[in-house]
Amino acid sequence: MQSLDRRTFLGGSAAGLATALTSSAAALQPKPKRAILVALAGGIRTRETFGSPANVPNLLRIAEQGVVYSRTRASNLGHFGATLSIFTGIAEPRGIRDNTRGTDPTLFEYLRKDLGWAANDVWVSTSGGVQEANVSYSLHPEYGQAFGANTLDGDGIFNAEFKQILEAYGRPRVMEAREGELLDQMRGAIGAAGGAERPDSEALARVERFLLDELRRGTQDLTGLGASDAKAFRVARNLLAVFRPRLLGVVARDADVAHRSFNDYVQVIRRNDAMLGELFDALQADPDLAESTALFILPEFGRDADLNSRRGLDHGDGSDDLRQVSLVCCGPDFRRGATVQEEVRTIDVCNTLCDHLGANPRYARGKRLPRLMT
Ligand SMILES: [Zn+2]
Repeated sequence: MQSLDRRTFLGGSAAGLATALTSSAAALQPKPKRAILVALAGGIRTRETFGSPANVPNLLRIAEQGVVYSRTRASNLGHFGATLSIFTGIAEPRGIRDNTRGTDPTLFEYLRKDLGWAANDVWVSTSGGVQEANVSYSLHPEYGQAFGANTLDGDGIFNAEFKQILEAYGRPRVMEAREGELLDQMRGAIGAAGGAERPDSEALARVERFLLDELRRGTQDLTGLGASDAKAFRVARNLLAVFRPRLLGVVARDADVAHRSFNDYVQVIRRNDAMLGELFDALQADPDLAESTALFILPEFGRDADLNSRRGLDHGDGSDDLRQVSLVCCGPDFRRGATVQEEVRTIDVCNTLCDHLGANPRYARGKRLPRLMT
C-alpha cells in the first residue's frame, strides 16, 4: 500500500489533509464497487411511502432510477432482531436479546474478511444508542470485531461531554470509555490511511479534531422531532466525503414514534426523506462515487394495519402492512425504473450486496434478488 507522504500528513492544513487522504485512496483503487445500505429501522409501512408520494419525493426519485421490490417480506422479531437480519441475512438469529450482539456474521464482516478491506472502508452511522451500534459486527468465532464496521452514533459524537473534549482539546483529561473507544477507531482509520508509519500523538490529535469536526459538520442545527435520524444521515453524508467508504450503513429509528403518534411518524418519514435526498445528491455530485455506488433502502418491517387507542401505530398484527415492506435498489449496474412484484425477503439484501461486491456470505440464508440486473 502506498503510504501518505509524512510531511503532507503532518504539516498540511486540514483541507490539504482531507485532499491527501482522499486522493491517495482514490489513486489506489481505480474503480472499486461501493454500496450504501439505509435501514429505515423504525417500522415504516409502504402506505406512508409509496402509498403517499407526497411524503417521500426523494425516495421516489431514487426509485425511478432503480428497482423497487414492492413485496419484500420482513422478519418480524422486534426492531433489533429484524434490523440485524438485514445485515446478517438470517431471519431468525439464535440467542438474540435486545442490546446484545448477535452470533451470525454481518455483511461488514463478510466483505472485510473476503476482500481484505481496511477498517476505514466500512462505516455505520446510526441514530444513536448501543442497540443500533450492535449491527457493526457479530461474536462469530470466524469473524467478529476484527472485521467489523466503524460505528458513529449520535450519543457518541454529539453529547455534551464529547463537545467539551473537542473544545478543550490538548488539555489532559480523563476520557469516558465510550469516547476513548471512538477516538481509538479514528486512530485505527488514520493508521490505515497513513500506511505503516504512524504519526505522532500531537499530529493524531489534530487529525482527530479535524475529522470529528468534519464528521459532525452541519449537525448542530438538526433539532426537534426526528433529529437523531437526521444527524445519522448528515454524518453519513460527511463520511462519504471524508472516508469515501466502500460500504456505508445508515440505521435510522425515529419513525417508531408511531406507537404514540401517527402524525409525528409521518413527520419523521418526511424529514428522513429530505435527508435521504441530501445523501443521494452528495453521491450524485461526485462522479467517481456516482458511477461506483449502489444504494439499498428498506425498513426492517412495516406497522399494523389499524391505529391503536392512542391514534398511533404498533407492530404486531401480522398483517401485510406489517410483514411486507418496499425495498429500493439503485445503482450503476442495476435496471432503471423497474418494479418487481415477485416476493423477496429483507434478508436477501445481505446476499445480494455481498454478491455484488464480491464476497461470499457463507452463513446467510437469503438469496440474490431476482431481476436486479436484467
Ligand atoms: Zn416499535
